[in-house]
This record gives sequence, C-alpha cells and structure tokens, in this order.
Amino acid sequence: MAQNFQAELVACFGQPVAENPTGVMQEAAFRALGLNWRYLTVEVAPQDLADAIVGMRAFGMRGCNLTIPHKVAVMPLLDAVAPDAALIGAVNTVRREGTRLIGENTDGKGFLRGLRRDAGIDPKGKRAVVLGAGGAARAIVTELALGGAAEVRVVNRSPERGAQMASDLAAKTGAHIRYEAWDGTYRVPGAADLLVNATSIGLYPDVDAMPPVDLDDARPELLVSDAVFNPPETKLLAAARRRGLAALDGLSMLVYQGVLGFKMWTGQDPPEDVMKRALAQALGIP
Ligand code: NDP
Repeated sequence: MAQNFQAELVACFGQPVAENPTGVMQEAAFRALGLNWRYLTVEVAPQDLADAIVGMRAFGMRGCNLTIPHKVAVMPLLDAVAPDAALIGAVNTVRREGTRLIGENTDGKGFLRGLRRDAGIDPKGKRAVVLGAGGAARAIVTELALGGAAEVRVVNRSPERGAQMASDLAAKTGAHIRYEAWDGTYRVPGAADLLVNATSIGLYPDVDAMPPVDLDDARPELLVSDAVFNPPETKLLAAARRRGLAALDGLSMLVYQGVLGFKMWTGQDPPEDVMKRALAQALGIP
C-alpha cells in the first residue's frame, strides 16, 4: 500500500504568538490518536492577515486559531461565521467545510464545557456575575445567555463599555443581562450561583492583584471561576477556597476551547487528559 507522508495542517495566527501554548496540547492529542497532523504557531502581522488566509486556502489547511490582534479582523475574510461567533463579534477558530472557511468562537463554549465537566454545573437557570467587558467576557456572557442562565450581571471598570455590552447582548439573546457599576469594591450578591473573573486582573506578572470583590454575602454554593490561566491559582481563587467555596481555574477554559477546536477540525474526540497534561507541562505547572 502506498504510504502517505503528507500531514494535515492547522495553525495559530497571531502577533505576538510565541508564548501561545495551544500548539503543545493539540500536537499531544494528534500524537495520542496517531493522526498525521501538525499545528503550526505562526506570527502574522495585521497587514498580512488577508494573505495568510489566502495561503491557508492554497495549502488546503484544515483550520486555524486566531489570537490577538486577529479575532475581529478575520471575520470578513471567511465564507461564513457561526451564529454565536457573530453574536460575540469575534472568531478564535476557523474550520474548513469543503472549500469554505467557517468562523467559530470556542472561548465561551470552552468555558461552559469546563463548568459542566470540571465543576459539575449547568448554567441553565443560574445567576451569574461576570467581571469584565472585553473579548473573554463577551464570549462567556454570550454562551451563558445561550446556555439558559436566568440572569447575568456584567460588572466592569469602564461603565460605557460594560453597559454597552450588556444592553447589546441582552437585545441579541433575549436573556436577562444587565450592567452593574464597579465603584470601589463590588459586593457579590447572595443570590449569585457563579462569579467569573473575565478581566485581566491577576494575570502574570501582576500575580498579586485581585479583583476588588467582597464575598461576605456569598452563598456556600457559589462557584468562583477565573479566565486568567497564568497563574492558574489566582489570588481570587485562593480567596474563594479559603472561604470554602468551589473554584474553577482558567486552564479549564483554555483546554476545552482547544478540545472543541480539535473536534471541529478532525471530527474526533481528543483525549482531554492528554491535552491537560501537555498544557500543564508546557506551562511548568506541577
Ligand atoms: P480585554 O483586553 O479584551 O479586556 C480586559 C478586561 O479587563 C476589560 O473589561 C477591562 O476593563 C478589564 N480590566 C483590565 N485591567 C483592569 C483593572 N486594573 N481594573 C478593572 N478592570 C480591568 O482582554 P480579554 O477579554 O481578551 O482577556 C481577559 C482575560 O481573560 C485575560 O487575563 C486573558 O488571559 C483571559 N483569557 C483566558 C482564556 C482562557 O482560555 N482561559 C481565553 C481568553 C482570555 P475596561 O473595559 O474598564 O478596560
């Protein structure tokens, strides 16, 4: 039988991109399933993105991830954008369907999968507080709304940005999403089931920073989660654990957005434990 030496290709396009660890976990999953696939981590400048997408088509690549600064700019370069990615207004994953390139967003979906798989929580009927109104917050709020959350309160430092995102997503999803001001310390309401830090507070190297929130009213069942994955144990999660609250780290969202991308590209379920281990090893997490 003729051998096939031609690998299938996927990639991550970004700038800067060198510190993006996604390739490590995808390659580990390809190896574990014996797939002759390669994940290339490629620096692409903003003015070269359109050429990179043309190149991707020419190479017959199976898909790609987009990271800073390409998540919005890539949208008009694609053949279609999935409905939730259109709501979010950003694409972090492209998959190929025949000759067409379809834009998806797996960030919020990855967060929800982590909620379900790692924390055992379904967002349906839950009351959530999301700190932040940037790209990660928008993806998480959108998927919480589509997942049937009873209420999402958006708390953000810049009132215009927070209020705008809350009213836009409320109008587009029909869900109860509203903005709450973040003046000083935000007191997390006792009715909340879920608190998500989707700001960059606590992100390396600012590891001693903690979002100014007060957990005194928190119910014992409150789950505190953090989108920040470096470090995985943020000050916020440590504070939650000290109070005996459950905590979900940002590695969960990072791994599951990759798990969903893998499935979209290959049609196969990747070994999630292999991906988690590869990621932890790459990030030097014991
Ligand atoms: P953006 O730059 O789009 O948004 C940053 C958000 O953080 C804004 O809401 C901003 O508020 C807020 N913020 C930043 N600094 C402060 C501060 N000192 N005080 C109060 N609010 C602050 O970033 P992203 O949404 O892309 O990323 C947010 C975090 O999520 C990052 O840490 C990123 O690493 C993480 N992330 C994790 C992923 C994962 O898979 N785990 C995936 C994607 C992101 P304002 O509007 O007022 O500026």
